[in-house]
Amino acid sequence: MAQIYGKVALIGLGLIASSMAHAMRRGGVAAEISGYARSQATRDTARRIQLCDTVCDSAEAAVEGADLIVLAVPVGAMGVVAEAIAPHLKPGATVIDVGSVKAAVVEAVGPHVPDGVHFVPTHPMAGTEHSGPEAGFASLFDNRWTLIVPPDGADRAAVERVEAYWQALGANCERMEVTHHDLVCAVVSHIPHLIAYTMVGVADDLSRVSDQEVIKFSAAGFRDFTRIAASDPTMWRDVFLTNKEATLEMLGRFTEELFALQRAIRTGDGEELFDYFTRTRAIRRGII
Ligand code: NAD
Repeated sequence: MAQIYGKVALIGLGLIASSMAHAMRRGGVAAEISGYARSQATRDTARRIQLCDTVCDSAEAAVEGADLIVLAVPVGAMGVVAEAIAPHLKPGATVIDVGSVKAAVVEAVGPHVPDGVHFVPTHPMAGTEHSGPEAGFASLFDNRWTLIVPPDGADRAAVERVEAYWQALGANCERMEVTHHDLVCAVVSHIPHLIAYTMVGVADDLSRVSDQEVIKFSAAGFRDFTRIAASDPTMWRDVFLTNKEATLEMLGRFTEELFALQRAIRTGDGEELFDYFTRTRAIRRGII
């Protein structure tokens, strides 16, 4: 048991926040957990499953007296939420976010954080295709990376405490610069989600293969590859709108590779295909 903060306020009560609530309880990481989500239905569910000690009807009430405030809403809502809670933050408190994009969040949230309150952007590299307050589970962050993206001049002790907090939730932490974060995440997360969405979109759009056939005969390739296409549309819309530059750059690279493979298939270049698949298999086998 390692209590890192007194009161922790969770703003947004979806997959990530509810997993944090379970992991905090498991590890005795906080003395008290309050929560708020915009939708009444989500707040009702959170109360029914006793996700937090208190579920409040406003974000302002939830952050009252909190030592750590977690912004766990879609990236596009971070700025509005930060503006609303700013006057209610306790001096010395720390605000973190868990958004999948960092430059846009730093820009949207940073200006609202009052003097004397610390802001440490974070991103847990863990998730599932499920969303909402009932999707969370305590082990989501176990042995997964959480990227810590401290702004220039961030308070050292505040950053170290945030790292201790994520470690107490089961995660490993690594610090990363903000632009690099968005590029890395475009490669390892954002583009794969985009491709998964297009795989399902293309299958749905075919006139000679029916949706029923796709569902019925969906074997390992399609089933495994498209699991993440069931993810929350609001979250992913916001990711692509806010990480435009890095995702477009990576999408350009991806398209080039696809064209190269298309050419190899058309020209019957077996050597090109074999070499490509051998190289990529070796890389994939290195990922556990
Ligand atoms: P989710 O859809 O499960 O939950 C989002 C929550 O935010 C809901 O409770 C919703 O009611 C609430 N919300 C939305 N707008 C709000 C507003 N304006 N004010 C207050 N509450 C609001 O989403 P999630 O998967 O928990 O994602 C939350 C954040 O974590 C996102 O920024 C996402 O980019 C990031 N993230 C998600 C994953 C993942 O795999 N799901 C992984 C890492 C980081």
